[in-house]
Amino acid sequence: MLDAFILSLWEEFGLWEELAQAGSSLFALDKRVSLVYLVSAFAFAAIVLWVRYGKAGLQRSYQYFSWRTWWHPSARTDYGLWLANRLLLALLIPKTLAKSLWVSWLFFFWQEQGLTSLELGWSDTAVVLCFTLCYFLLDDFSRFFVHWCMHKIPFLWAFHQVHHSARVLTPFTVFRTHPVEGVIFFLRSLLVQSLIISLFLVMFPHQVSLMQIFGVLITTFIFNLLGANLRHSGVALSYGNKIEKWFISPAQHQVHHSCAKHHYDRNFGVVLAVWDRLFGSFCYGDDKQILQYGTNQPIDRLGPWGQWIMPFKSLLSILNVVHNVVHIASWMINKIPVNKPVFFRIIKKVYPMNEQNSVDETSSRKQK
Ligand SMILES: [Zn+2]
Ligand SMILES: [Zn+2]
Repeated sequence: MLDAFILSLWEEFGLWEELAQAGSSLFALDKRVSLVYLVSAFAFAAIVLWVRYGKAGLQRSYQYFSWRTWWHPSARTDYGLWLANRLLLALLIPKTLAKSLWVSWLFFFWQEQGLTSLELGWSDTAVVLCFTLCYFLLDDFSRFFVHWCMHKIPFLWAFHQVHHSARVLTPFTVFRTHPVEGVIFFLRSLLVQSLIISLFLVMFPHQVSLMQIFGVLITTFIFNLLGANLRHSGVALSYGNKIEKWFISPAQHQVHHSCAKHHYDRNFGVVLAVWDRLFGSFCYGDDKQILQYGTNQPIDRLGPWGQWIMPFKSLLSILNVVHNVVHIASWMINKIPVNKPVFFRIIKKVYPMNEQNSVDETSSRKQK
């Protein structure tokens, strides 16, 4: 009975296909961790380090293939989470359907708000360039901001700590995330993409074809080709201070993973470094930096299943603290005999037990 149910689940949601796609995505050009980009990242690092430091630099780039890193228990957890998350998120999110539904809904929403074609007389190339620039800026900033929130809000850090628990970095560490974080970042991309696409479809009708929009964006292609995979790897590659002021280098993202206290909450950016400079979280990278990675917490040594469960345990302890704070606050409110603001009254309603308790206490005292 259970076997039949599981089999029907696999067939219903195309999980076999999903598993097969996980393998075939290694050859796709729109995925960061594909063979082309894995090789191009190494070539990029080898050339830059060879030009900078000669033979010694070239030898340093071989770290990229270090078997000790790629078969480290932490790396094996990355692979497990990659497959497990793919299957789970395939169950939870019908991606293509959700995206096209949102685009159509927003398209009609903008029209209802009176937004119409801009009639600027721009050429198709100018419109596509403008679309690409707007999309890139909004996409990059929203990634930065959601990542910033992941570190600053304890509820979100409980899930983001999974990514930071990696003790070695391989290109697959990018998949080392909790499914809850996966859903949050999916909603972010859904919002950004449908917002920009629907706005451009309304403002420049007939000039932005869906093929151009859903195709491989040139910015992503360049980002991936020029070593996006080095960000999670054993090779520290800095772009030099002048470029790192504007673009996040692999060495800078490795600083983000460092477990040294002075590196905490640094370099949240993905492509542009300007957001980090604006938010005061910017830090330069260095070719010669030697860093230790992880959170220094027990989660660092857990396997895929433990990584799924641990954030919920952290969350329970956070909720426990919040519960205690509210409990103490409600006790204090009952002691203050003045007009109480709305928030206090709400707490009082949520925690009527306190009054009951105090009544019980006084009545018991009276009885005594
Ligand atoms: Zn982070
Ligand atoms: Zn990372």
